[in-house]
Amino acid sequence: MKEPNKLKDIKPEELHGKRVVLRLDLNLPISATGEVSDDYRLRRALPTVEYLRAKGARTIIVSHLGDDGSKSLAPVLAVLQNNLPVKMVETVDDWLKIADELLPGEIYMLENIRKNPGEMKNEKEFAEKLATMGDIYVNDAFAVSHREHASIVGVPKFIPGFMGFLFEEEVANLSKAFNPEHPFIFLLGGAKFSTKLPLLEKFINLADRIFIYGALAHAFFKELGYEMGQSLVEADTSLARQFLNSEKIYLPIDVRVKNGGEVAMKSPDKLKRDDNILDVGLDSVEQFTEIARDAKMILWNGPLGRFELNFRGSTDAVAKIIANHPTAKSIVGGGDTLDSIKNLGLMDKFGFISTGGGAMLDFLGNGTLPGIEALTE
Ligand code: ADP
Ligand code: MG
Repeated sequence: MKEPNKLKDIKPEELHGKRVVLRLDLNLPISATGEVSDDYRLRRALPTVEYLRAKGARTIIVSHLGDDGSKSLAPVLAVLQNNLPVKMVETVDDWLKIADELLPGEIYMLENIRKNPGEMKNEKEFAEKLATMGDIYVNDAFAVSHREHASIVGVPKFIPGFMGFLFEEEVANLSKAFNPEHPFIFLLGGAKFSTKLPLLEKFINLADRIFIYGALAHAFFKELGYEMGQSLVEADTSLARQFLNSEKIYLPIDVRVKNGGEVAMKSPDKLKRDDNILDVGLDSVEQFTEIARDAKMILWNGPLGRFELNFRGSTDAVAKIIANHPTAKSIVGGGDTLDSIKNLGLMDKFGFISTGGGAMLDFLGNGTLPGIEALTE
């Protein structure tokens, strides 16, 4: 397989004075008062920015914020400015007017790329225009690289494209799951069975044990014919059937159920019509802990319960087990997964935390991403 081109393979002296289009994922959560409420992704992206600055590149950072182009990147710029001197330009033309006059090492950021309709439609003309901003393109936006957008796959058709440091780290670490040390335990939680199905298909062969917890388990329970009451269950669960007889698969043996104002621990086959499963139970956490005891690798995606409503006991418990595991290297990722654990003070205890949500799932499922292919000659 051909390897994508990498920033680290460019001779540092060649970066001096070069105009670099740097795609980052600075789509940070913004609070009701308009401030960045969590700068985790930005901090992970800083090494590449700092490197380009130190080597004297003239960098234009490109990012989106929010699903459409309605938001301004101004709050993100404010956080960036705490770390580095960065200024904003509104449009591509604004940058083109100043780029050649800049001192080596100067950094600008382009306003929310999704303000341009050509971005998400991946219009060729728009990608070509973006490409005029740089001599080279660096993609360090792993978390967006499952998207075929102009600033991800379009620009490197017109100027040479390279993978940034965070992106490289993501690929190197997530790829360890394809060649795991054994015992290799996969813990899959969260919701939306259909988006996690490719992962199951891939890891049913690679993993030694797969724990299916969170709302994902409900699809399996439904296929087993259990009453699921008010619990969250996907409409079509038929594709869960193929895994039901696998000896590798572990479903929760107990669940925390809400019924009106009452919360109780139940066996998953004993639900009543108005019961709602909101977390896995203590025995299930115990079973996971026991079986994962001698693991050499643990891959975890998906909260185990509805943590937003404070049904987070099992998620907290497994997070601690995995973070403090004496023998297992861990790989953890997923947008909601990170949200669910970020206040536990464990972030630097895991082996590797992926900044990708959907991108991580796609990479783990397919072994590549459109954004990687675009950097591979
Ligand atoms: P990630 O973003 O980490 O990949 P998902 O998006 O798949 O995770 O799933 C996260 C969502 O799953 C959370 O909103 C969480 O509340 C929900 N969830 C987990 N367990 C349950 C449950 N038993 N009932 C309802 N929702 C659940
Ligand atoms: Mg999610």
